[in-house]
Amino acid sequence: MMTKQQLVSKVKYLKLNNDGDFMLDYDGKLDIIDFHTHMSNVLPLKIVDPHIVGKKLKYKTLPDMENMDLSVPYWKKINPNEQKRGILPIIKFSIEGYKIFKDMANGGTYENCFKSQNENMIKTNVVLPLSTKKYDRSMEALKISKDYPNKFIAFCSVHPYDSEMKEKIYNYKKLGFKGLKLKITDIELKDDFTLLTKLFKICYEVGFPVLLHTGALTHIKRENTSNLMWKILKSTRVEIFGRLLKELPKDFKFIFGHGGIAEYKLVAEYIKEFPSCYVELSCQTESSIKYLINEVGYERLLFGSDWPALPQAITLSNVLLATEADEYARKHILYENAKNLLNI
Ligand SMILES: [Zn+2]
Repeated sequence: MMTKQQLVSKVKYLKLNNDGDFMLDYDGKLDIIDFHTHMSNVLPLKIVDPHIVGKKLKYKTLPDMENMDLSVPYWKKINPNEQKRGILPIIKFSIEGYKIFKDMANGGTYENCFKSQNENMIKTNVVLPLSTKKYDRSMEALKISKDYPNKFIAFCSVHPYDSEMKEKIYNYKKLGFKGLKLKITDIELKDDFTLLTKLFKICYEVGFPVLLHTGALTHIKRENTSNLMWKILKSTRVEIFGRLLKELPKDFKFIFGHGGIAEYKLVAEYIKEFPSCYVELSCQTESSIKYLINEVGYERLLFGSDWPALPQAITLSNVLLATEADEYARKHILYENAKNLLNI
């Protein structure tokens, strides 16, 4: 089995810091905008004060070294015969999800955030709150951006079942939010997208770009899953959002979060169809980023990491690798496109 040290010795632009975490290995100067980050206080759990010091991030979303493969999206080695039958994989799936959230809430502190920004030449994090029907975490993200206006940009997050959706979004626009983020599934919406479409239209009215968690793992076979597991795996598939975009104005600015994970090729097709849409690249690979550049150009690709769920350095190193021959594309993906989109 390869150690972490052996892995980084093989990957240009990656090294390990004193704690043994991944960090950028690059000599030039970059003022990067990371378009997909969270903090300890913006999650749908108990709010954790980001000022707390001495917490260590474990990056629970990363596979262990044995299962790590940086050449596939999500960086987890693919087993084409992966079995997800019965109730056990569903329980495991929920427990893993909970552990990831716990780690983010524990380690998404200012201390860890600034360390990671310094190590990875990141000037600004776009903070994406995750609201539910019950808890709106938008104001927590705003607090972060008011505390450190140079280091953070706040998106809001309003759930489509929120009865004050319209008033809230108009108010959030006035307060200085720059866009809206949501993580939602077709299961939660019971396959009825009326309210989500309404939410998108309000965002369009106020000029908010909208970033959603998009994508599915495509290597798992239908016959190897239970009905419920299959539904869960497909519940944020790219096709859902592509279909909704057909009902929205052509200049609505939608951002495919995570580049659609394993569905980045389908994302590329939608990017061609919808000229105002963008791709955020967290968890993508050198080759998938190259594919996207070749298919749709670099002007609508945005670097994002999903920190503190994932380290900022890995997607970053993949963007650098994919743009080795094109300094201009590199700058656009790392910050110019984000600046244009956010009007900053
Ligand atoms: Zn995220």
